[in-house]
Parts: sequence; C-alpha cells; structure tokens
Amino acid sequence: MEEGSATFAANILEMFRFLLPAIFSILFLPVIAQKSGNSAAADSKQLARPKLVVGLMVDQMRWDFLYRFYDRYSESGFKRLLREGFSCENAMIPYAQTVTAAGHASVYTGSVPAVNGIMGNEWFDRSQNRTIYCVEDKGVSIIGGSTTSEPMSPKNLWTTTITDELRLATNFRSKVVGIAIKDRGAILPAGHTGDAYWYDSRSGNFVTSTHYYPELPNWVADFNKKKLADSLYAKDWNTLYPIETYAQSDKDNVAYEGRFIHEQSPTFPHELKSQMGVNYGTISSTPYGNTLTLAFARAAMKAESLGKDNITDMLAVSLSSPDYTGHQFGPNSIEIEDMYLRLDAELAAFFTHLDKEVGKGEWLFFLTADHGVAHTPGFLSKNKIKVSTLSTNVTALNKSIEDKFKVTNAIRNSSNYQLFFNYERLDSAGVKLDEVLQYSIKELEKDTAVWMAFETKKLQTANMPTEIKNRFINGLNPKFSGDIGIILKSGYFFGARTGTTHGAWYPYDAHIPMVFMGWGVKHGSTAGPTYMTDFAPTLAALLHIQMPSGNIGQPVTEITD
Ligand code: ZN
Ligand code: ZN
Ligand code: ZN
Repeated sequence: MEEGSATFAANILEMFRFLLPAIFSILFLPVIAQKSGNSAAADSKQLARPKLVVGLMVDQMRWDFLYRFYDRYSESGFKRLLREGFSCENAMIPYAQTVTAAGHASVYTGSVPAVNGIMGNEWFDRSQNRTIYCVEDKGVSIIGGSTTSEPMSPKNLWTTTITDELRLATNFRSKVVGIAIKDRGAILPAGHTGDAYWYDSRSGNFVTSTHYYPELPNWVADFNKKKLADSLYAKDWNTLYPIETYAQSDKDNVAYEGRFIHEQSPTFPHELKSQMGVNYGTISSTPYGNTLTLAFARAAMKAESLGKDNITDMLAVSLSSPDYTGHQFGPNSIEIEDMYLRLDAELAAFFTHLDKEVGKGEWLFFLTADHGVAHTPGFLSKNKIKVSTLSTNVTALNKSIEDKFKVTNAIRNSSNYQLFFNYERLDSAGVKLDEVLQYSIKELEKDTAVWMAFETKKLQTANMPTEIKNRFINGLNPKFSGDIGIILKSGYFFGARTGTTHGAWYPYDAHIPMVFMGWGVKHGSTAGPTYMTDFAPTLAALLHIQMPSGNIGQPVTEITD
C-alpha cells in the first residue's frame, strides 16, 4: 500500500516534470517573445556577447584632444563617441614610463611593466649585456616584407592579454587581429594567440612573422599589391580647411618644429609626390598613415569575416601616425590639428562601416591612447613657461666618478631615465656600489632640471609623494631595472631641440582618453579615478571571460546599466 502510493506520487511527479515546461511555455511564451524582440542575444539559451570588439589606440593622443578641437569635429566621429558612449574623463597611466610598448601592453594586459615585463620600447638586459627591443624575436622570420627587417613576436610579454583570454574562452573560435604601422602597436594588443600585422617601411607592405603564419595570407599579399601608399602620396598633404582657420594652433613655421628630410621648411603644403616608390617611411608621419591602417583594418574584417557570426571577434587597431607627426611638429602645430580633423572624418566613416558590416548595436568599441605628449619646450618657453630639453650626459658623470673613485666607465648603460652601473668594474676596483650611487645621486640633483634622483632598490623609502612613488614602483621590474632613476621637473625631457616627446609620469603624458561605446555600454561619463589598467577587466566583465593573467585593474562598473 505504501509502496503503491509512493509509486502513484512518483508518477504524478514524473508527469509534471514533463508537463511543466509545456505549461510554462504556453503561459509565458508571448512574454518571452516580446522581451527578446528581434535580438538573438536575448535568447537565454545563448550567452549575450557582442559580435565584434574594436579597440582603437591613437598613439600619443592626449585626453584634451577630445575637446581641444571639439568645435570642428563632425557629428559622427569623436562627437558620436562622446554623445553615445561612456567617457572616463580622468583615466591615468598608473606607471611612470609613458611610452608606446608599455601603453599597448598595459591596456591589453590590465597590468603594469613590473608584472607584464614590457619595461619600455627597449630596455637594458644585464644578463645579456645588451639592449632588448620590446617585440624582438630572433627565433622567427619576417614574412611579406624586406628580408632585412627585424623579425618580431610577443615573446617578451610575460602575461596573457584580454585578446588571449577571449580566444581561450571560446576554444580559439574567436578571431583576434592586431593592426598598426608600428610592430609593437600590433603585436602586444594581439597577445600570444591572435594575429598581428604591421607596416614595413622598407617595402611599403603590411607584414607578419612566422610566429603567426608559415607564409603571408593571400588577402594581405593582395592588399600590398595595390600599393595604396603611392596613391596617398599622390595627394600631397595640404590642410583640410583654409589654413587661416586653424585658430587652435601655433604658427605654421616655427624654429622648434621638425621638418621632413625632403623639405626645406616645416610648412604646408607638404609635398609627398616625390616619395612615391622612393620612401615608404614618410607616410607614417602624415594623416595618410591613418588612412592606410584603417583601409587594412577593413580588408582584415572582410578576409577574416570579423563580427559575422555569434562568436565574438576582436579587432585591435593602433594608429601610429599621430605619434610620428606629434614628435616632429608638436601638439600645438597646425599639422596636429589637421591630423585630428582628418582622423575625426576617418573615425566617422569607420563607425558607419561597422554599423553596416557588423550591425548597429552589435559591436563594442573603445578609444584610448598609449600615452600623451608634452608641449614642445620651445613653444612653452616662448609663452613664459620656461622649460628645456637636455641630455643625460653620462660621459660627464662617469668622468666625475672616475676622478673620485678611480673607476672608469662605472655607468654601463643609460635608458628609460635609469642608470645601470657596472658591478664587475666597481668590485675589481674595491669600490662600494652604495657609495657610488649616493655620490651620483648628489651629482645628478645639482642639475636644475632634475627634480629627484633615487636608488631604485630603496624607492619605498624615497621622500616623494605616494601618488608618484606608486607609479615608479609599478614601472620598475625586478629583472630589468637600473640602479638609479632620474625624474626631471615637469616640462623637461631628454631629447632633441625640435619637436617633443613623452615618457614622464606627469599628466600631460599620463592622462589618456578612455571612451567605451556600443554593445552593453550606456551613455555617460565619470570624472572619478580610472586607470589604463581598467580596460582589460572592464572588457572581461562585459564579455564574461577571465581577466588576463597579470591583471591588477578594476572594471569600470558605471558603464553598464
Ligand atoms: Zn606611442
Ligand atoms: Zn608647420
Ligand atoms: Zn612617441
């Protein structure tokens, strides 16, 4: 009897187990259908993700360029980004060495040089007694370009990137493509497992290496055959609008602007026809470098069917030309103003392309920069902010050390605002390293342009504001750091007489654009603190994938509803 009733109850339960979903769907199906609309993403059986993520890094774009030229931007470029997207207005680089390789690595790893190993564009390696280039790899070969060009890969990157994590999350079904004129601007964002293509200035071709493919993909060879650089050279470079309307810039012809090697003065119109078939490097310092890179990005989207199915792909584009042009002419030049007005139009066209090819609302976009840039010292000095460029003068310091300690060439390398001492020479002369370091610091601090010099191993006890100290700690790497770090006063840098540079912790170098737009992003902005290291964890949160292996950033939670 008990057994029978138990069986009866089980049967009823069994019946309900089958019937319930049917009853449920009859009752609620209209509601579900209504809620999901026409979007497959809302189907709860499938994880909601964008079809394509596009990361755009504008090399050397200061945050204030979003607003400096705002009034002359079109409605569909930078203004669309700010109107529809979410802007983190106070995004800072949280480490000291604000240079290209470190910036590209940081955005995509969510980490800092101390952890991801990318100390700078190049750095001194004591164990090999030589300077290493960030993406060099003698174990691979270059394909598609000049055979004399150096082979490259992400070998020196110690951690994974958000692009690697996307590939891992989808069992490598997601496609990842990194593109830039600069090798490091393409390779570091693409991570270890994505594809990367960069521009070979010797041949005028986009190239890759055997780390990625045994031979150049056909679509890349087809793109190269068109020699787009030549047809862009044919246009020369004149201003987009009448030159007298460039009210946000300094005069066109000033002594502190650098000129093109083939020109007599740094002035418009910049003649480029003579470069056709002759010098494929010149295009990098013109707005046509952006045109070329974005044309290649479109070709990659088509060839690799990026954003064409429900498995999220990622396109990581870095525009290198604003950096080359900025170094040469400075951020207050008509050349830079014109470059950003043209970039605005390129951006508008690219957004339209994404809407058409991937679909409105189906792509997630972010804009940032690898670093900003300092105003040209000549320009600042002319306007009563007295700053200057200088050289490290290691020779003089070595001579001074020699006079006092009787050791020749005690400093073996000077790079990235750090000095590396020759321990063997000091040892064999019976000189204590600590004494030489203390002496050198005192000598360096005699220079009025030096704000502070510090012993890298004793940085924790250095007498400087915590905010600054943390950036240096994040930038020092236990394997590749020098013995002494040098911090110049704001506005000063080691460099040439013309043009400008970046590389300091100061806000003009460290304050970057950070704007998200599209899939999963609401409109808005925050003036609260955010960091370059927050891109990767924010993307990880949006995509429901693991953050990169060395991540130390935090997701920006305000960007979602
Ligand atoms: Zn850069
Ligand atoms: Zn000029
Ligand atoms: Zn640069």
